[in-house]
Amino acid sequence: MEAPSRMDCDDRGDDQAEDSQRGFLGMFSSRNGKPRGDAAANLRTHEALLLLRNYEESGEGWFWSTDAKGRLTYITDSVAQLMGRMSGKLLGTPLVDLFLPVDGRGERQRTLPFLLTKQSKFDKLPLRSAFEGDDRWWAISGRPQFDASGKFTGYRGSGNDVTAQRRSAEDASRLALYDSLTGLANRFNISKKLDSTLAAFAQQQRSCAIMLLDLDRFKQVNDTLGHPAGDALLKQVAERLLKIVGDREMVSRLGGDEFQIILPDIEDRGKLGDMAADIIASLSQPYSVEGSRCIIGVSVGVAIAPFDGLSSDDLVRNADLALYAAKGNGRGRFSFYSSDLHQAAEQRRALEDDLRDALVRGEIELSYQPVVNSRSNMVTGVEALVRWTHRDRGMISPAVFIPIAEEANLIWPLGEWVLRKACEDAASWPGDMRVAVNVSPIQFANADLPKIVAQALATTGLAPDRLELEITESVFLGDTAATNQMFKALKDLGVRLALDDFGTGYSSLAYLQSAPFDKIKIDQSFVRDATIPGSRNGAIIAAIVALAEALEMETTAEGIESLDQLDLIRKLNVSHVQGYVYSKPVPHGELIEHAEAGSWTIKPAGPARQRNDRFSLFRQVGAIHDNHRYSVVIRNLSTTGAFIEGILEVPVGTQFVLDFGEGQLVTATVRRSTKHQQGIEFEQTMVSDGNGGLCTRHRVSPYLIAAAIQPTSALALPSFTTTNDWKAA
Ligand code: C2E
Ligand code: MG
Ligand code: MG
Repeated sequence: MEAPSRMDCDDRGDDQAEDSQRGFLGMFSSRNGKPRGDAAANLRTHEALLLLRNYEESGEGWFWSTDAKGRLTYITDSVAQLMGRMSGKLLGTPLVDLFLPVDGRGERQRTLPFLLTKQSKFDKLPLRSAFEGDDRWWAISGRPQFDASGKFTGYRGSGNDVTAQRRSAEDASRLALYDSLTGLANRFNISKKLDSTLAAFAQQQRSCAIMLLDLDRFKQVNDTLGHPAGDALLKQVAERLLKIVGDREMVSRLGGDEFQIILPDIEDRGKLGDMAADIIASLSQPYSVEGSRCIIGVSVGVAIAPFDGLSSDDLVRNADLALYAAKGNGRGRFSFYSSDLHQAAEQRRALEDDLRDALVRGEIELSYQPVVNSRSNMVTGVEALVRWTHRDRGMISPAVFIPIAEEANLIWPLGEWVLRKACEDAASWPGDMRVAVNVSPIQFANADLPKIVAQALATTGLAPDRLELEITESVFLGDTAATNQMFKALKDLGVRLALDDFGTGYSSLAYLQSAPFDKIKIDQSFVRDATIPGSRNGAIIAAIVALAEALEMETTAEGIESLDQLDLIRKLNVSHVQGYVYSKPVPHGELIEHAEAGSWTIKPAGPARQRNDRFSLFRQVGAIHDNHRYSVVIRNLSTTGAFIEGILEVPVGTQFVLDFGEGQLVTATVRRSTKHQQGIEFEQTMVSDGNGGLCTRHRVSPYLIAAAIQPTSALALPSFTTTNDWKAA
C-alpha cells in the first residue's frame, strides 16, 4: 500500500524542523501547541492525525521531511529504528546519505541528489538502505515545498518498504535466466549470450566453438531410480562440467539431459577434442546418488564459428547434427561438424528403411571368426558376426547398422535370426567347436530372451554348452534385480556367458565377481594401447587375467593383428586370441572345410609390429602445388603422414599443400616416391575427429579466404591442371 497522498498535498512550508521535533502531530499544530480553526475543523484534523499515526505504526508506510538544504527534519520513528538509528539522531543528516543508488552500475547514481537540487517532485524512487546490516529496499516519494513568497523550504515525502517485491522480482528474473535445478544458465540465457558473442566476434573476426552434450542412458537412471535421483544426478553432472569448463556463465542446461557450452576464441580441434574427451571421461565416472551407484555416459557434438556457421541458429543446428552423428557412432563419443554429416544423416535414414527388408531379401548373413588357444594355436570356437551386403552399397559394417537396428526396434527380429542361424550352423559342424553370439543390451533387457534361446537350442539340437552369449557391460546399468534374474535364467539353460569389449566402458572388476561369466573378452583398444611404451594397460591385463583365473574364467584378447601384440598377450597369460593375426571372419562354407579337415590349427601371421593409428582409406582430396590443383587419392592416413596416388613422378622433397576440404589444409613433403604413389609427411599433425577418423587441428578461416582471394584462388578450382613436372596418373 502507498502512503496517503494527502500528506504530499498539504503544502504548508513553514516551521517543519521545529514541528517534526515534536513528532508528526506537530506539523498540524500551531506554534504554541494550540489547535487552529474552529472545533469541527479541529476534530477533523485530529482524526486525520490519528489515522496517519496509525498508518505510521502499521509499518505500511512512513514519512519524512527535509529542510531547504536537504537535511532530515522528520522521519518516522519505526523506520529510523529499522535503519538501526534513533530518529532524533538521524535528524540533520542529509537525506541522500540514507540511501545507496539502485544498482551498482551507476545509472541512477545521481538521481536522488539530482532531483533534490532540481527541486523536482519524485514518485516511488527505488532506493537501497545505506546502513550496514539493513538490507532493505525503499520506494521513496517526495514533493518540494514552498513558502508564501515562493521560496523553496524543503521536501515532504513518504516511503514504503519494497524489499519483498524486489526480491521476488530478482528471483523471477533469475528464474528467467537460470536453470533452477543446476543453477546453470538456461536455454534462453545461453542463446542470447551466443547471439551477442557471435555478433561481436564476427566483427572482430574471432572464432567461437560450441559443444552440445546429451547424456547417454540418463532415462534409464530416471526410470529405475526415480526422478529425485535423476535430479541429483543432473546436479552432479553440472558440477563436473563446471570443473572442466571453468567459466560458469558459459555452461548451460538446455533442458532434460541436454547441455550446451560456449567456448570463445577456440578453433583448435586438437584442444576441443581433448576437452570433449575430458568431459566424456569425467561424466562417465560412476555417480553416487541417494545411496545408489549409477553410471551414465555422454555424447558431444562440436561446431565452430565462423567455419561451421556464423549465426547462432546455424551453429547450434550443426552442433546438433554432430551430436546426432556422435550418438549414431556408438555414443560416449564426440564428433565435429562437417558438411558430409548432412548426407550421413540422410543415409542413416535410408539405411534404416532398407534394413527393414534386408532379412527378407536375404542380404543378411553370418560370418565366423576363429577363437584360438593362444598356446596351442588350436581353434576352440568361433564368433558369429552378422554381415549385411546391401544391394547398392555393398558391405555395411555391423558397427554401423547394429545401432540403427537398436534404435529402429529391428534388433529383436535380427537378433533372433542370428541366434537361430548360428545354432543351426554350429549343430552341423563336426566336433564340438563352440559358437559365440552377440546379444544386444536391448535383447538382454527383454524377459523373453531365455525363451528364444531355449527355442533355438531345441529346434537345432545344439548342446547348450556349445553356445556362448556375448554381452557388454552396459547390461549392468539397468535394473539390478532384473539383470540378476536374466543371468540366472540363461545359466539355467546351460549356455555360456562372455563379457564382451572389456576395457571400453567402465571396466568394473566388481561385475566380474558378481556375474556368472565363463569368459572375459579384452577389447582391441585396450590391447593396442598395451604395446605402447609407458602404457599401464599391460599391468591391468595381467590383473584381469589373474582375477579371471581365480574365478575360473577364460580370457580372450580381441583384435590382435601383429606378432608383437600376440607375444605380449602370451606373456600376460591370456588364454585365447581372436584377431587377424590368426584369421579374419570367414564365410560359413570356408569354416565347414576347415572343420571337416579335422582338428583346426592356425599359424599366426601378420606384421611384426602394430602400425599405430594408420587408417586405410580411399579418399579423393586436392593437392596444391605452384598454384595448380591436382586430384589425388589418399590410400592410408596417419596423424603424421599419408600415402597418396594420382600424380606421376613427384620428386622426393617436393612440398605441397593437401586440401582435405572445408578449409582443412596441410603442408606436406614427399618422403618416398614410386611411379604413381608417394609417401608424404605432414608439417602439422592431424588430430582425432572423435569417430576413428582424423582431421586438421586448424582450418583456414572463411574471413581469410574472403579477404585474400588472390593467394587462395587455386583452392577453389574444382579440376586440376597438369604441368610439366607433375602429370596426372
Ligand atoms: P565385437 O563383438 O567386439 O566383434 C569383434 C569385432 O572385431 C568384429 O567386427 C571383428 O571382425 C573385429 N575384429 C576381429 N579381429 C580383428 C582384428 O584383428 N583387427 C580389427 N581391426 N578388427 C578385428 P565386426 O564384425 O565389424 O563387428 C563389430 C561389432 O558389431 C561387434 O563387435 C559386435 O558388437 C557387433 N555385432 C556383430 N555382429 C552382431 C550380432 O549378430 N548381434 C549384435 N547384437 N551385435 C553384433
Ligand atoms: Mg562380440
Ligand atoms: Mg568385442
